[in-house]
Order: sequence, then structure tokens, then C-alpha cells
Amino acid sequence: MGSSRLSELLLLGQGLDLASERGVSCAGELPEASSPDLVARAVTARAALGSRAMILGHHYQRDEVIQFADITGDSFKLAQAAESNSSAEFIFFCGVHFMAESADILTSADQKVILPDLAAGCSMADMASAKQVDDCWAALEKIGVADRTVPITYMNSSAAIKAFTGKNGGAVCTSSNAARAMKWAFEKGEKILFLPDQHLGRNTTVLNLGLSLEDCVTWNPWKPNGGLSESEILNAKVILWRGHCSVHGRFSVENIEQMRAKVPGVSILVHPECQHEVVSRADVVGSTEMIIKTVENSPVGSKWAIGTELNLVQRLANRFPDRDIHFLDKTVCYCSTMNRIDLPHLVWAMESLVDGRLVNQISVDTETAKFAKVALERMLALP
Ligand code: SF4
Repeated sequence: MGSSRLSELLLLGQGLDLASERGVSCAGELPEASSPDLVARAVTARAALGSRAMILGHHYQRDEVIQFADITGDSFKLAQAAESNSSAEFIFFCGVHFMAESADILTSADQKVILPDLAAGCSMADMASAKQVDDCWAALEKIGVADRTVPITYMNSSAAIKAFTGKNGGAVCTSSNAARAMKWAFEKGEKILFLPDQHLGRNTTVLNLGLSLEDCVTWNPWKPNGGLSESEILNAKVILWRGHCSVHGRFSVENIEQMRAKVPGVSILVHPECQHEVVSRADVVGSTEMIIKTVENSPVGSKWAIGTELNLVQRLANRFPDRDIHFLDKTVCYCSTMNRIDLPHLVWAMESLVDGRLVNQISVDTETAKFAKVALERMLALP
């Protein structure tokens, strides 16, 4: 890669690129993170906003933020919460950019969605740009398979990718309904283009649909024709976009082997964004909500090694001290962009609103929102 292309990249948290999940700077005067009255200020601002505001908190958020959430959930549950609440005028979304976009799409025109730090993007969502996906679709059209291909995009994608999916007969999915979405797609077409998480797509194809690894090919957006031959594309049932989660992609088979040796009788519980070899060696695989329910319903004394974001695993370990809960990786593994939302940013965003200034509004343009909503509503209507 030449230096000219590298120089176009923004450092996380610097510069301004609202079209990207990569990150932008915060324009506000933030309170000091060490300020002793931060919690009291958050309580005061929250009380002042009252029922005009709702705070949504993703499970991967820090404790200091999640304590102020009215509703906690994974991206699917939070999308439903945003859609079903028509009374709150302002929705503070403590999660990442693509989730706030979905909330904006699903809420009414007079509701405003606020992302307390615009640098809270998602590296996976950034791995599929609208231009790259358009190029891929043009290649499928040229080969003559686009009209038999149904795009399915994971919730963790930009509004532009969701709009592409809606326009081309497809639907959004989450980790909890990916199998249902893919079965629905196979009733409509012969092939699926699965965006942008190759691991969720591969794991669902093999573990839930009964297809094999050989039925999948991986489209590399940085290579001509995705790095695939025409016959590879023609023979594939599922074309997986070459994206991944930088948090879940880290867990390894070695982590599992070491954990089984260290904690006899441990059950391995992982998210389907993990690599296929990890997922296929785990005892239980499930979405963030399912991971929480599995631990909640487990017997006292049970042993778990959990492969998902560290904030959530720590919270589960604190909540269930009578279970033996371990983090699957040996090294610290937070989602760095989720962690951009901290209490100073939440206080700043709430206090600004109390003072009459709406900051960090996430607003999806009408045309994109229209087609992204089609794809989101197809997901919400899945049987
Ligand atoms: S955990 Fe992974 S998929 Fe989720 S926001 Fe972070 S980088 Fe994106």
C-alpha cells in the first residue's frame, strides 16, 4: 500500500469523517474523567431531561455508562427498543455508530438520536464500504448470478450497506436470527451474499443450515473479482464478505485448549463472530443475549470460559459469584470503539441538551434510511 493512500486514513478520534465508522474527534469541552462529581452531574442531567430522553446501553459498554441505561441489550434488542418507544424525544445511544444509525432509521422523524462520542465506530462495519459492495454486486451481475443472489447484511454494517440490501431484495440479520434470515433468503434465491462478517456467515451456514465449508467462498474486496474465479462464484451457495470483528476474531483454539487444561470441567461459551475453528470446538455458541441467558440459567458451581467482549464477561462474573466464570483469552480484549463512550462523554452530551444544545446527532439521509428500513423491517418480520 502506497503512503499516499495511508495518509488518507484518519487516526482514531482525530479529524472528521462522518461517512466512516473509523472515528472522529469530539468537538465538546469534556469534563475530566477523574472529576469526583461526575456521577452526581450525570444524575442531575438525567433527572432534568426526564421522560424526554431515553438512554440505551449495549452490553459491551463500561459499567460507569451502563448504570445510566434505561434499557440494556444487544444490537437487536436495542433496535426493537428504539422502534417501540415513540414518546422519548431524545435517544442517547451508548453503543456504536451503526447501532445509532439503526435507531435513527427506526424512530420517528421528530425523535433525535445522540451518540455521545462520534468516535465510537465499529471496525467490522468499516470493512464493507458502499463502493466496494456496489463493485461486488456489479461483478455478480456480470457473471449472471445477481438476480439469483439474496444479500443478507449483519446488523453491524453501515446504513448504506443496509440500504443496498433493502434495495436488492435482502434483509438485515443479527447473531440471534442469522439462521432464520439465511433460510428465508434461500427460499427467495439460490445464493446468499453475506455481509460483512465472514465468521457469522460461515458459522451459521455450517452449524445451522447443514451446508459445508465447501459451499462457501470468501469475497476479498481488496482483490479484483474478490480474489475468486468465475467457477468458484458459480458453484458457491454462500459468498462471504471478508470482514471480521477485531474483538471476537482474536479468540483461538489455543485459548480453548489452555482453558480446558487449566479448569477441568469448564464449558466454553462463545459468540458466533468467533472464527469457525473456535466455534466448532465450543460447547455453546450464541448471541450476546443468549450468552447472558445461558449463564443466568446455569447451575450454581458451573464453570464457564466465555469468548465475548470483556466488559460483559466481567459483569457476568460480578453478578454470578457462585459460578466460576473466566474470560477465554489470556489478554485484555475490550472493544476499543465501544469503550469510547465513557461517562465524561455521556455527561457532556446530556448537559449540552439540558442547556438547549443538541450535540452529536446521528441522522441518516432520507433515501438511505428508506431502503435500510426496508431491510430492517424484513428482519423484524422474519418468521
Ligand atoms: S465488538 Fe466487534 S462487531 Fe461489536 S462493535 Fe466492537 S468491533 Fe464492532
